[in-house]
Amino acid sequence: MLCLLGNSLENRPAGLYKFQRLEARNSPIDITPISRAANMINARELIGTHDVLLLTLDTLRYDVARNALTHGRTPNLQRLLPGQAWEQRHTPGNFTFAAHQAFFAGFLPTPVAPGKHPRLFAATFFGSETTSERTFVFEASNLVTGLEQVGYHTICIGGVGFFNRLTPLGCVLPDLFQESHWEESMGVTSADSTARQVQLASKRLSCLSRSQRVFLFVNISAIHQPNCIFAPPAAEDTPATQAAALAYVDQQLPNLFDSLACRAPTLCILTSDHGTTYGEDGYWGHRVSHETVWNVPYAEFVLPCRV
Ligand SMILES: [Zn+2]
Repeated sequence: MLCLLGNSLENRPAGLYKFQRLEARNSPIDITPISRAANMINARELIGTHDVLLLTLDTLRYDVARNALTHGRTPNLQRLLPGQAWEQRHTPGNFTFAAHQAFFAGFLPTPVAPGKHPRLFAATFFGSETTSERTFVFEASNLVTGLEQVGYHTICIGGVGFFNRLTPLGCVLPDLFQESHWEESMGVTSADSTARQVQLASKRLSCLSRSQRVFLFVNISAIHQPNCIFAPPAAEDTPATQAAALAYVDQQLPNLFDSLACRAPTLCILTSDHGTTYGEDGYWGHRVSHETVWNVPYAEFVLPCRV
């Protein structure tokens, strides 16, 4: 039986679920995205026939992502990204809650070039100048509910603290979804977090009929502080330790994209919610408006179904 978890996982408190440790996987993803050019996606056309993945690589800096790609440390991401490169964008928020609230309202990171940039998703909003014929317009306050209203099943896999359901604030974003999941082993202090997140996402997808459209949101926690756990014996976070965490994440991603490709074509959005500072100009951390915080890596593409 493929469905090991069933609906009983929905909205349970943390710590109830145990998973086997996953083997890191270095084999390349045997899937070629079919839309490589940025700004070519017609979300209005795809919604209803395609699954949707929003994967946020929490706290990943644009320069770290770009350099890791250049040095061959993220081969699986490289195969997926349009043009095998990250697009530089500006995030609408300088910390997790603000950025994700904006994302779920339809405001994904903005292209860095001046001008009005049409959006993939937008709520009905009088006077919007960035809603185009390619924009999926939803009749709700947020994208998650908007997709649910047109038949999507919505899944949240946390993540950092704003997705841990341990406090009222930690429930705000997960509560947008029909089902949400978090346990400590998926959080920022776990050296196995992405493997756990990917395993759970794959299991939840396997429980759903292939005819059921899905919006899967995954908040990758590994790159967030403390990311030095991925680069022993480092004792503090630096751009180098963040790159090590990203390399770990890259090794886990094939299983996620394999699971998606087994059920439907998928509109994929990969981005960071914000970067962070490691002492640049005297700043540390994020929730500050510094270029290392507002510049984020971004990619959008269609992953074809292979069955
Ligand atoms: Zn964040």
